Amino acid sequence: MNADLHCHSCHSDGVLTPAALAARASANDVELWSLTDHDNVDGLDEARAHAHRLGMQFVDGVEVSVSWQGVTVHVVGLAFDPSNVALNEGLARVRGGRDARAMRMAEALERLGVRDAYVSAMRHAGNPALVGRSHFARVLVEQGYASDVHAVFRNYLVPGRPGYVEHSWTTLAQAVTWIHGAGGVAVIAHPGRYRLSGAQIEQLFREFRALGGIGIEVISGSHGDAEVLTFARLARAFGFYASQASDFHAPDESAVDLGRCARLPDDVEPIWRAPELADLIACST
Ligand code: AMP
Ligand code: MN
Ligand code: MN
Ligand code: MN
Repeated sequence: MNADLHCHSCHSDGVLTPAALAARASANDVELWSLTDHDNVDGLDEARAHAHRLGMQFVDGVEVSVSWQGVTVHVVGLAFDPSNVALNEGLARVRGGRDARAMRMAEALERLGVRDAYVSAMRHAGNPALVGRSHFARVLVEQGYASDVHAVFRNYLVPGRPGYVEHSWTTLAQAVTWIHGAGGVAVIAHPGRYRLSGAQIEQLFREFRALGGIGIEVISGSHGDAEVLTFARLARAFGFYASQASDFHAPDESAVDLGRCARLPDDVEPIWRAPELADLIACST
């Protein structure tokens, strides 16, 4: 199945509109697609309408920012009701911290010589409420601090680097509760990307499973071959469904194009077999 269950539009830190993403997904032969913008659901109506017009299955999605043991962890919600009030209020609360964080990031970057950091980042932010590190990364590339956004992240925008500021998002339990309250399922995004030891990852997975989380991304644009094997093994060990996703943001930035991610290994259970997704897909065919 050519499924791609995690990507971003201009409603968060991607650069394409939901309609343009739908066209790109369709051109790349995606059969099952989800748009999962950070901390908001604003692009879903447009994405769903275009997906259906182009004959693709669509699952509503979101990527919620969580702080777990001082580390930022992303939880993807899938197949929920995007009009659910508690979910929307919760996401508004998570977004609410972003502007003050952006101002602190701008101050830190301006101390390094970056010019007009806040205003410049806002120019990149299609949705000012969703201003984030990717928008600052694009400013630093423009001003010649690095040749691409990946180098900016390595040198400036991650813990221990001078442009990084601490921020507290929401809790793992709260994010999962919002997703479940809206009828959806919760998936740990790109587990290979966190600065966590093997023991910590297993603790995260145990807590997540106890909260009712059912899946982890095994295929992700940020996983190499070794991580695919590791997380396929852990998905089996924990009884998690496995998700498959590019985490596509922008044609010039993302290593893996929308709909061009690797396929899940045979020995894991794909997330689209979970009843919440399988029923939805069956209903729309
Ligand atoms: P924020 O939610 O503002 O903390 O920004 C997180 C976003 O930064 C992620 O969703 C990615 O889009 C981007 N990001 C994080 N790490 C990297 C990296 N190493 N290279 C490129 N983009 C990254
Ligand atoms: Mn992002
Ligand atoms: Mn993420
Ligand atoms: Mn993402």
